[in-house]
Amino acid sequence: MPELPKPMTWILSPSRTFANVEQLARAEAAANGWAVKVEPVVVDGQDAALVIFSKKAVAESANLALEASPPSLAVATPPSSASAWEDLLRAYQGYPDVSTDLKVASLAQWILESGRGTSVLARDHLNFAGLKFRARMSGHAEPVDYRGSDGDLATYCKFSSVGAFIAGYWHFIESGPYDGWKTYRNDGAGYIRHIAKQGYAPSADYPAKVLALFGEAAKLLSAPPSPEASGVAAPASDATGSLLRLAIVVGHNKSAKGAGSVPPISRFEYDFNSIVAAEMTEESGHYNLQAKVFFREPGSSYTAEIAKAYQAVASWGAQCVVELHFNSAGATASGSEVLCRQGSPDARALASNVAEEIQAALGLGLRHNGTGVKIVGSGERGAGSLYALDGVPIVIVEPFFGSNPAECLKVATLGEQVLALAYLRGVRDWAVSRIPAAEAAIS
Ligand SMILES: [Zn+2]
Repeated sequence: MPELPKPMTWILSPSRTFANVEQLARAEAAANGWAVKVEPVVVDGQDAALVIFSKKAVAESANLALEASPPSLAVATPPSSASAWEDLLRAYQGYPDVSTDLKVASLAQWILESGRGTSVLARDHLNFAGLKFRARMSGHAEPVDYRGSDGDLATYCKFSSVGAFIAGYWHFIESGPYDGWKTYRNDGAGYIRHIAKQGYAPSADYPAKVLALFGEAAKLLSAPPSPEASGVAAPASDATGSLLRLAIVVGHNKSAKGAGSVPPISRFEYDFNSIVAAEMTEESGHYNLQAKVFFREPGSSYTAEIAKAYQAVASWGAQCVVELHFNSAGATASGSEVLCRQGSPDARALASNVAEEIQAALGLGLRHNGTGVKIVGSGERGAGSLYALDGVPIVIVEPFFGSNPAECLKVATLGEQVLALAYLRGVRDWAVSRIPAAEAAIS
C-alpha cells in the first residue's frame, strides 16, 4: 500500500475549483483505501482547499489535527508603508550599478506595474514590477500567491525591502531569457522593446504604455535626494537560483522504436520523441528548469532496461520525470492522455498540469472524462516506468494517436517544438503550484 501523503493545500483557480480538488482527493482516497477530509481554507488571502488523507481508523484524529493547526502559509505581511514608493525612489536615485537610461526605463515600468506604488503587490510585498516568482529568484524573494490584474492567480515575488526589490528586479532580468539586454545600456526605449519581445509582458501595447511614462520617470529620478537615502546592495552576480531538475526519458529504444505513425509524421515514437526531447532541453532554461535527456538502452529484458534508465535518472538527482511516447490504435482512436501512478497526489498533479498544457497546445480532446489523466495501477501497462522511483513524480505522455491521420496532420503542422514547450509549461505550472502546498503541509 502506498505511503500516506502529507496534508496539502491547493490554491483554487477557475480551472481548479474546490469541487475539482474534492473529486480528485476522493478518487485518490478510494483507490488507496484511505479516508480523506477536504476543507475550504484561506492561504495568504487566497481561497484554497486543504486535503488531509488518513487511514480510516485514524480519520477522527486527523480531523482534530485539522482543527488544531491553522492551515496558513504563515507569510508575515510587512506593515504597509505609505512611504514605500518614496523609499524606492530615493534608493534608486542612489543606486550605482545601472545607467541613467536604464533607470528611467525600469522606473517607467514600475510606475505602470504598481500604479505609482499603490498596488497590493507593491504595498504588501514590495514588488513594484509585477515580477512572478521563479526558482532563479530564490535568495532574492519569497514566493507569494496573488491574483494579478489579469485575473490570473499566480505566484509572485515578495521582497523584504526596497533595496532587495531593486537588486531582485535586475537579477530577474540578468538571469532571465533576455539575452542581449545589456546592449541597450544607453537606449531605454530599445531596452523596453527588447525585453517585451523576449516575453516580459504578453500584451502588444506594453512598450507604448511604458514609453509614455519615461518623462515622469526621469523627473522622479532627478528630484533632490533626501538625506536619509538608503544604501542598496548590488545584485549578486553569482546567484543563479536552483533550477528544478526535469529528467526527460525517451520511450522505447533505438532498436525497438515503439509504435509507428501515419503520414505526414511517418516516424516511430523513438525517432519523433528524440526530436521533442532535444527541443525541450534547448528551451528548458526559459521555464526555470534544468532538463536532461535519458535514453533507454536495448538490454536483456524490458525490466532491466527500465531499471537501468531510471537508476541514471535517480543518480542525476531528478525532481520529476516526463517519459515521452505517443499512442497507437485504430484510425479513429483519438485524444491526449498523461499517465501516472496510483497513490501519489504529486504525480497526479504533474500529470494534470501537463495534460492541460498539451490540450491547450494541440487542441485535441482529453481522454478519461476530459481530465486527460490516466491512473495506472501497479502491474498495468506503463507501471514499469511509473513506479520505478519512490518520491519522484513520473508521468508518461501520450499526446496523440500516431494511428489517427487527422491527429498526425495536426501535430505535424504544429511541429515538435510546440509539443516540447507544452510539456515544459506543464512542468513549470506544476512546480509553481506546489510551492505553497509544500510549505503549508502540516507536519
Ligand atoms: Zn510508447
